[in-house]
Amino acid sequence: MQEGRCEYCSEIGKCAVCGSAIESFRHVGVRGSGKIHSAIWHYAYPCGHRIDVGKEQPAKPQASSNLAVYNGGPLWKDGYEWVNIFWGTYWNNQPWVQFIDRAVEDIEKNASYSGGLNQYNVGKGSLKSHVIIQDDPPSTISNQAIGSSLVSWINSGTIPDLGGKGAYNVFLPPGITATLGTDTSCSVFCDYHDSASGNKGPYFTCEPYPCTTGCNQCTSSAFDTMTQGLSEEMTELKTDMNPGTGWVIGNEEICDYCDAHFVCNRISTGEYVNAWYSNAAGACWKP
Ligand SMILES: [Zn+2]
Ligand SMILES: [Zn+2]
Repeated sequence: MQEGRCEYCSEIGKCAVCGSAIESFRHVGVRGSGKIHSAIWHYAYPCGHRIDVGKEQPAKPQASSNLAVYNGGPLWKDGYEWVNIFWGTYWNNQPWVQFIDRAVEDIEKNASYSGGLNQYNVGKGSLKSHVIIQDDPPSTISNQAIGSSLVSWINSGTIPDLGGKGAYNVFLPPGITATLGTDTSCSVFCDYHDSASGNKGPYFTCEPYPCTTGCNQCTSSAFDTMTQGLSEEMTELKTDMNPGTGWVIGNEEICDYCDAHFVCNRISTGEYVNAWYSNAAGACWKP
């Protein structure tokens, strides 16, 4: 939800950090690196500070397991497509490009992990060919800059135009810091998903090069850190394309809830994935 208001920020008029007036909020679906819990993080406009709106997780209803609630926004349907964007010359001839392509395909095709999202009226997508961007990213890159870069690459024909019917996974090379307001990757967050322009997209996940701490509770493998982040951001993008407008549990998305009750899980093809909350099962996803 770009520069709007949700029920958790509708009453907030002043920034608690700098005291300036807040016109609106940018909502971003973020996986925290341990210091701040995974949730829909709120960035005040225009000052850019993150405002803590509280955990706000609803109490479990007595007679129903339907914790996840749909707010009416765009959802991922059948026929949607993923494009992996590897930003920078670092990725030329890197074996990880193929490994990541395979992981995205395995996650998307998994009948249980991704197929189970049909309970949320979410379909299965396919993977188009990846693009390696031959200009290197700046050493620090904000979510707004990633969104505007995607728009300019679409306009120049550098990447395919998905027209809102799909999303881009943006992979950053080692040593590049992603920022959300004054927050930096690996310091307070692992990865996130966002939209460049609200319900119009383009929709994207951002995967900084795997952080060495705080983003993998299961193994010491950087690739496992990557697939845990990817699985979570892909799932949350699909079910909540414009953060906060799709399927949410209070101020959390459906994997955020399970991050707070974390269990290590793998899909049948071997990749480590983060669980999502299933209304149908009344529990977090298990293989
Ligand atoms: Zn809000
Ligand atoms: Zn501020």
